[in-house]
Amino acid sequence: MNFKPIPIKSVYFKSTVTGKRQITIPREICDMKNINTGDQVIFREDNGKIIFEKEPINVTCFACKGETNIEGKRCFVCNSEGTLNKEFSDDALKIIGYIAMRGRKYGVSVTFLTSEICEENGVQYGEYPIIKLESEKYSRSTLDYIQDEIQKKIIEMYSPKIEQDNNLFACPSDLLLEQILKNLSTESARNEVRKWFRYDRTQFFKGDGVKS
Ligand SMILES: [Zn+2]
Repeated sequence: MNFKPIPIKSVYFKSTVTGKRQITIPREICDMKNINTGDQVIFREDNGKIIFEKEPINVTCFACKGETNIEGKRCFVCNSEGTLNKEFSDDALKIIGYIAMRGRKYGVSVTFLTSEICEENGVQYGEYPIIKLESEKYSRSTLDYIQDEIQKKIIEMYSPKIEQDNNLFACPSDLLLEQILKNLSTESARNEVRKWFRYDRTQFFKGDGVKS
């Protein structure tokens, strides 16, 4: 997996201001920050420096579905904001890190099992890390739902994609697919992921009209 952090602080790039006050954003910066054509960027002044950043995009919180509360209690994923920064929402590892750090406040603990840990315990879970949420405060069905939402993000991150289209998965064998599905707790999440790999999001099955 390619999660190597880029040492942003140790490098800088130059750009020349043109007669129309335009500058070119260095390719390296675009790659680092995933800035694409059509994206909005913002400039702001901060303590004598000009900060340039990609405009943050917010999406509805997947845990509370924008309600800000879960079972009458504060949402521990969005801190009861109802929305999440899209980059955060797309990144299972950041979400897990956040819950690990802040979950105690809400009485939620998170366990993140990687294959190395599982093998030490003599259990073979395959290549995919597994997330487990525990809490006395929230019901098991709610925790299962949120856990599965995060597990789906892990599956998205860890499943190989085809070279031509980063949204399409390389088609897994039935055996591997069963292993992937085993990490999900709810039938609806299993059905959704099964559809990704068998009908919706693989090159081989996409558009051939086969339905289960
Ligand atoms: Zn929320």
